[in-house]
Amino acid sequence: MPTDKMLIKGCYIDGEILDILLSDGVISAVESDIQVDAATIIDANGLCAAPGLVDIHVHLRDPGFTHKEDMISGCLAAAAGGVTSIAAMPNTKPVTDCPEIIQYVLEKAKNTGVHVYPIAAVTKAQQGSELCGFEELRAAGAAAFSDDGRPVEKAAMMLAAMKAADKVGAPIISHCEDMSFAHGIINEGEASKKLGVAGIPNAAETVQAAREAALSLTSGLPVHIAHVSAAQTVAVIRDAKRRGAKITAETCPHYFSLDESLTLSRDADYRMNPPLRTKKDIEAVIDGLRDGTIDAIVTDHAPHTKEEKSDFEKAPNGVVGLETSLAAGITFLVRPGHLLLEELIEKMTIAPARILGINAGTLNVGAPADIVLFNPDESYILDPAKLHSKSYNTPFKGMTLYGVVKYTISSGKIIYKA
Ligand SMILES: [Zn+2]
Ligand SMILES: [Zn+2]
Repeated sequence: MPTDKMLIKGCYIDGEILDILLSDGVISAVESDIQVDAATIIDANGLCAAPGLVDIHVHLRDPGFTHKEDMISGCLAAAAGGVTSIAAMPNTKPVTDCPEIIQYVLEKAKNTGVHVYPIAAVTKAQQGSELCGFEELRAAGAAAFSDDGRPVEKAAMMLAAMKAADKVGAPIISHCEDMSFAHGIINEGEASKKLGVAGIPNAAETVQAAREAALSLTSGLPVHIAHVSAAQTVAVIRDAKRRGAKITAETCPHYFSLDESLTLSRDADYRMNPPLRTKKDIEAVIDGLRDGTIDAIVTDHAPHTKEEKSDFEKAPNGVVGLETSLAAGITFLVRPGHLLLEELIEKMTIAPARILGINAGTLNVGAPADIVLFNPDESYILDPAKLHSKSYNTPFKGMTLYGVVKYTISSGKIIYKA
């Protein structure tokens, strides 16, 4: 049955004022002054329209850790952040390493309004010793493969996984961390020295990114590098791309905006893995975004409860991010002039959609009717208590952010309204 038409009037798209007509779950026209009978008309005067954001690195914590987040709360957070497509990491309990868990995720996500793409584990129980059944996982609906939360420690295992992923036509995402460095809790540098705690050196990330680059160059197979945080990792990826490696990379808002000095407060909401680095690393990540070394911006949304985050040294790593990614991008990349708004949107929509190989991330006629309407000039002070996520561990708390999501539309239906 055809769905009711929705007409969005007078929004900015790449500097032009246009109307968008949605019908039957797709974008059916993008023109100036569309005159048509529509069941829903949104006055978008003064708002920008962009494709619904695509976040290919999210921890929904469901199944197994639903005290932190579940499918429903995670998708509410996504909708509030303008995100209409998310890829869910497999480090759940049980781990997403069999078709049953893929089916569980797809089934539970069905009525959330958000498109949820399950990522399957690379190795059984993410233990690094036995490759998962890529074919059956792909057939069940796995959109990608990753052991995120952990690295694939052995290079030969990673190469076998790259081959298996390529065979089933799915991307493979590498959490780069050499586990021989895994005893630290924040960046190894001035802050760790001042606090007297063990640090995580840049090299922990970079050596494994270099390994993945070498594997990609040797095999000619693609690999995607998760959450790039360190200057020398950016350099390694830039070099690998120049030499023709099929390597893509993502970073997260906290790596282009916040540095290790925040951890001096001994507040675990500033702890994640990889950790906040230095101002120099931030500059390098921004350069990487500008020159295309870093293709996409994702959140690595990683909810943990207040209790879990209460002890600075023992707290688990991770921060929430779904509801602040667009604002962080506008505040720290667009307003200072590092990226144009269009470039930011590209890195949060079509670029990650391409990496995942999904039909999303454009406002072309015929594309899915997934749209975010936002005011890039409106600011707010981030109050964690107002987040829709079950958890409030945001490193942007108390900060002034620019960019307010007003409507999120997914498959032609309003799933969030401010
Ligand atoms: Zn990771
Ligand atoms: Zn992650």
